[in-house]
Amino acid sequence: MKWISFRYQGKQDYGVLTENEEIFSSEQLFGEAKPSSLLAYIEQPQPILNLAQIPCFQLKDVVVEIPIIPPNNVMAVGKNYYEHVLEMGSKEDVPEKMMLFTKSKNALLPHAGHIELHQSVTSQLDYEGELAVIIGKKIKNATLDEADQAIFGFTILNDITARDLQKQHKQFFIGKSLDTSAPMGPVILQKSRPLAEQSFSIQTLVNGELRQNGTTDQLIFPIAQIVAELSQGHTLLPGDIIATGTPKGVGKGMKPPQFLKEGDQIEIIISGIGTLKNTVVRSTERKEEQ
Ligand code: MG
Repeated sequence: MKWISFRYQGKQDYGVLTENEEIFSSEQLFGEAKPSSLLAYIEQPQPILNLAQIPCFQLKDVVVEIPIIPPNNVMAVGKNYYEHVLEMGSKEDVPEKMMLFTKSKNALLPHAGHIELHQSVTSQLDYEGELAVIIGKKIKNATLDEADQAIFGFTILNDITARDLQKQHKQFFIGKSLDTSAPMGPVILQKSRPLAEQSFSIQTLVNGELRQNGTTDQLIFPIAQIVAELSQGHTLLPGDIIATGTPKGVGKGMKPPQFLKEGDQIEIIISGIGTLKNTVVRSTERKEEQ
């Protein structure tokens, strides 16, 4: 089942997206006692009412929103595909322990939203197509099985990175957190079977050119291990988002490197989930009003 958050005629809603690109609204799913948002549903799941009615909306008529705003910053794993480690350096860089960092949740951007180029602060903006998991239950010190069972679902996340800032600072935070640096969506695929029975293919296209083509079978640290490790001494909450790493084929790894420029269209396709598409635009230099 695919969950989607959207706006229709200015009104915020969420629901279930069908194979025919139609949407059952939250009221159709839950009646008047519906959870107030998709995050509220993840926090306190309720039984779904009869779906045997006509969906309320067509996907083409709604504005797709960020599926959920997580309680914390987006957590992420670096260097989690062997070939990507090689394109960024050498095999000595293959991590023995998981490389973990966060991205500001203020950087989240919906499907079809514009990725800012930030040309005054970076000249090396790059994409990273990634599978992200959404936590469904509060967990701490989880075993691998408990981690597996705590996952609500999966989505697509573009871990946009300013490579020059990533390199300048010892920690990745600012290089990974410029505004609009976390496009996510368009939907959350609800998890329906154990992780061991599930793998995803990940492809990234820039202006139609295939740049990344990997599968989650290639992860150095698999998903259950990522979730379990992040929960050791650290509580994970419903709605927390964890990006699991990017396969080879980022712009920095090309010869010569090719960073993002105005007008570039990035599509990330993950099997079973869909396509996250965003366009790069030049930033306006104005300061936000205080
Ligand atoms: Mg990444």
